[in-house]
Amino acid sequence: MTLTTPIGLAAHEARVADDLISLNWPGKAWMPTLRHDGEPIDDVVIIGAGQAGLAAAFGLAQQGIIATLLDRAPAGDEGPWATTARMETLRSPKELTGPAMGIPSLTFRAWFIAQFGDVAWRALDKIPRLQWMDYLRWYRRVTRALVVNGCEVLRVEPTAQPWVRLHVREDGVERVRLARRVVLATGRDGLGGPAIPDFVRGLPRRRWAHSSDPIDASRLRGLRVAVVGAGSSAMDSAATALEHGAASVDFLIRRPDIPRINKSKASGVPGLTHGHYDLPDAWKWRIRHYINAQQVPPPRGSTLRVSRHPNAYFHVDCPVTAVRTLPEQPDGTPGALRIQTRLGELEADFLIVSTGFVIDWAQRPEFAAFAHCVRTWGERHRPDPADADAELRDSPDLGPVFEFQEKTPGACPGVSRIHAFCYPAALSFGTISGDIPAISDGARRLATGLASLFYREDVEHHWQVLQAYAEPELQGDEWTRADPAARFIGPDRA
Ligand SMILES: Cc1cc2nc3c(=O)[nH]c(=O)nc-3n(C[C@H](O)[C@H](O)[C@H](O)COP(=O)(O)OP(=O)(O)OC[C@H]3O[C@@H](n4cnc5c(N)ncnc54)[C@H](O)[C@@H]3O)c2cc1C
Repeated sequence: MTLTTPIGLAAHEARVADDLISLNWPGKAWMPTLRHDGEPIDDVVIIGAGQAGLAAAFGLAQQGIIATLLDRAPAGDEGPWATTARMETLRSPKELTGPAMGIPSLTFRAWFIAQFGDVAWRALDKIPRLQWMDYLRWYRRVTRALVVNGCEVLRVEPTAQPWVRLHVREDGVERVRLARRVVLATGRDGLGGPAIPDFVRGLPRRRWAHSSDPIDASRLRGLRVAVVGAGSSAMDSAATALEHGAASVDFLIRRPDIPRINKSKASGVPGLTHGHYDLPDAWKWRIRHYINAQQVPPPRGSTLRVSRHPNAYFHVDCPVTAVRTLPEQPDGTPGALRIQTRLGELEADFLIVSTGFVIDWAQRPEFAAFAHCVRTWGERHRPDPADADAELRDSPDLGPVFEFQEKTPGACPGVSRIHAFCYPAALSFGTISGDIPAISDGARRLATGLASLFYREDVEHHWQVLQAYAEPELQGDEWTRADPAARFIGPDRA
């Protein structure tokens, strides 16, 4: 069907509501209410209300389980899209169904066509970054996600009791929450933070930024900017600097060429989405290590956004070995950064390191109470030395519902009540816990897995419910007992 006239968002929302009713959504409540000191305990608390947290909450609601989402960001600013991301459009193709959880009216496509029509959809190349954020805000509203914004989780403490204790700061006030299960939907850097190369460690902080930092691009006007790396975020940072009047941008690229092929695209098949978890360890490692080592190229559009500026310079085979700050000039101008590379020395005024993210618990004080007892892949699998990979080594070795497992059994009771639904789950599960392509698959796995864990844990309660269940189907007046003599010929009737 071709929709030339958009139906409008209100009419579309009526369609969404109808779809959800058709699927009996939200699922019927079936969980017992657990209390501690008279206070009800949350069934599930999700830390992070980005697309992963929202999809998980919706998946749980489909199972009749209510989740509360906590996010330190203000409402509508969750995740990188409207804050630190700098690309013009998403990198993903527009057709991906993202967090729609199999419901056609919840897709970006349906939301877009309802407002702008079919012709505009066909004309759209890739999804504008801020429009994706608008869509997520809408998704949150129509799926009625229970989000507490401005709520920073300060400490997550597993306990020997059937709940996890969360210390949170909400509107400036610290309080404790209890939850039976906690989901970390904390994003790309969900168990760590930016990877910071050693060569910037001694530099004044105002002279450099990681590409995931908020950067006031207007400060870069007239400056010579150097960018370390050549991935997507490096391109986006460089383009932003150039568009804000940077005098020049020099890319310092360690590799002899910029990667051209996105190998992870070839891996995104349903077999991997649903089967990665069950692969032998050696295959899991081999596939993830290969994708890591090949690296993901920046999109062509993002690269052209940079190279159309005549003052953008690409230097390959150019690893940085050291950076120092030259003395301040007599007029008070700060001294330049002198960057030492394999190709020679380069002067710049500002340095952006686009060096990705690492799993580094030290950057996540909120997880300090249990980080030391989480089993990692380094303890599970010894790869061939040629396939050594620090990211994979440090990845948590997760159970089938994304739950952490104890390094030493019995040493950290309750840690398996914490579920890592964030990027570092990739070695255990493939990329189903953050990126747009398979986020619904991951959320469904998490939600159905949690339903199963809750049922097992509460089976005594459900057994009581089963026995006490007394809603009659028949009233007893629907049938009468027949007279056997009238119907049967038998020895005693002869
Ligand atoms: C610049 C950039 C561009 C990307 N582009 C694409 C793309 O085009 N296609 C694609 O498929 N993927 C892309 N990704 C990867 C991925 O889709 C995004 O990282 C996405 O945001 C992941 O969603 P998420 O919900 O897992 O995490 P996020 O969106 O990062 O949400 C995590 C939330 O957790 C909250 N949080 C974390 N810790 C705490 C705490 N202690 N207390 C309270 N709140 C906390 C944060 O405030 C945040 O809102 C991109 C990533 C980046 C960084």
